[in-house]
Amino acid sequence: MAALDGLPPLRDVIARHGLDARKALGQNFLLDLNLTQKVARTAGSLEGVTVFEVGPGPGGLTRAILALGAKKVIAVERDPRCLPALTEVADHYPGRLEVIEGDALKTDFESMVPEGPVKIIANLPYNVGTQLLVNWLLPRQWPPFWQSLTLMFQREVGQRIVANEDDNHYGRLGVLCGWRTESHMAFDVPPQAFTPPPKVTSTVVHLTPRLNPLPCDPDKLEKVTMAAFGQRRKMLRQSLKPVGGEALLAKADIDPQRRAETLSVEEFCRLANLL
Ligand code: SAM
Repeated sequence: MAALDGLPPLRDVIARHGLDARKALGQNFLLDLNLTQKVARTAGSLEGVTVFEVGPGPGGLTRAILALGAKKVIAVERDPRCLPALTEVADHYPGRLEVIEGDALKTDFESMVPEGPVKIIANLPYNVGTQLLVNWLLPRQWPPFWQSLTLMFQREVGQRIVANEDDNHYGRLGVLCGWRTESHMAFDVPPQAFTPPPKVTSTVVHLTPRLNPLPCDPDKLEKVTMAAFGQRRKMLRQSLKPVGGEALLAKADIDPQRRAETLSVEEFCRLANLL
């Protein structure tokens, strides 16, 4: 069946360009254009928006983003085998798709920010997804250059991103995300929706920046959460010893017998600010 955008079905694109999926690059492709549209729609209106995409692969999600009206897509792809397939998409949407061959972890996205709003949308390679998210959450300047992040993760990572205190999945990632963003899991995607299917269910997470997060130094917050969750079963008076222990907890007015997973983001920020 031909796709609505007039481009060939992704299965044909993959066969024609010999894009057999490579595990080392986290390649699990989405071939159903209805599903890629659903992912892209989670980002809200794309009219007039420049989208940064990581890992376009054969271009399924890229095509959905362009079909939904994004002004431009700047896509960073590490696998040079995908470039000819992406050139076909670029030719179909003249001037609207720029593909950069490279490693997204080494890409300075901020230096490429154009006029107008930017959203980030990606079906992320699982081996680098969390690190990319953390990089996008840590700039000193806030609000950041992006208006929203719409990202596919393994479900378990999604649960850690949206977790609040007293939740089993709550940890360093939940504190960082909760401090600077509002986030929710939009919908799950079963393994069989991908080619090849991964072992676990995936989920699409949508994050938007808080305009006024609690004032806090990211490095200090990282230091406190690393100590606290490094020994998450221990009482804070024990786990926080390397960063001030009981004295720090007393200054922050926090019971030293509590454990890391019971502390709210506000309490972690209070501790960080007292370091
Ligand atoms: N967007 C496509 C889709 O939805 O079908 C492909 C998604 S696949 C899960 C991840 C993609 O990221 C692959 O195309 C892979 O080659 C690419 N990739 C892996 N590591 C990368 C990195 N460090 N920087 C940029 N792209 C990377």
